[in-house]
Amino acid sequence: MHDYNISYKGLAEGEYLYDYHLNETFFETFETENLLAADLQVSLTFRKKSTHVELEFDINGTVSFPCDRCLEPVSSEIETQQKIYVKFGEAYAEEDENLYIWPESNNDIDVSKFINELIVVAFPMRKVHPDDTKGRPTCPVDMLKYIENINDDGSKIDPRWNELNKLKDGTS
Ligand SMILES: [Zn+2]
Repeated sequence: MHDYNISYKGLAEGEYLYDYHLNETFFETFETENLLAADLQVSLTFRKKSTHVELEFDINGTVSFPCDRCLEPVSSEIETQQKIYVKFGEAYAEEDENLYIWPESNNDIDVSKFINELIVVAFPMRKVHPDDTKGRPTCPVDMLKYIENINDDGSKIDPRWNELNKLKDGTS
């Protein structure tokens, strides 16, 4: 069980290192749409200063989504670095994407929230098997054949009927 809550109040000023290994279950809490699998390494350098806290994240690994074209899993590399500043105040607030106000009454900083946001922003825009050098999709072939055999209304064409229709039309 990973502990994403860092009890910063008990820490002396200085630098602390945390490592997390995430899989898809991490994202269940955040209801990340369509994510099939994840394998990510997160290194956090936590710097406690006299007036604020600096969180420096280094995240890399892979995530997998259903391909937009064939629905088979397609994986993407994720690599992101980000520094977040946390100051203390009355209530939680997001000043900008790198500066947060954290309620002074909280003893812990929950870093899972930041980790989730950094990764979601790094998700690929286009989730599809890439084309090969000849511009052909690299989707698994069987699945493409299956898709090509589906009518516009979603019903499946039985290849045997195609042959029969050809006979009827005299095109065979
Ligand atoms: Zn595909």
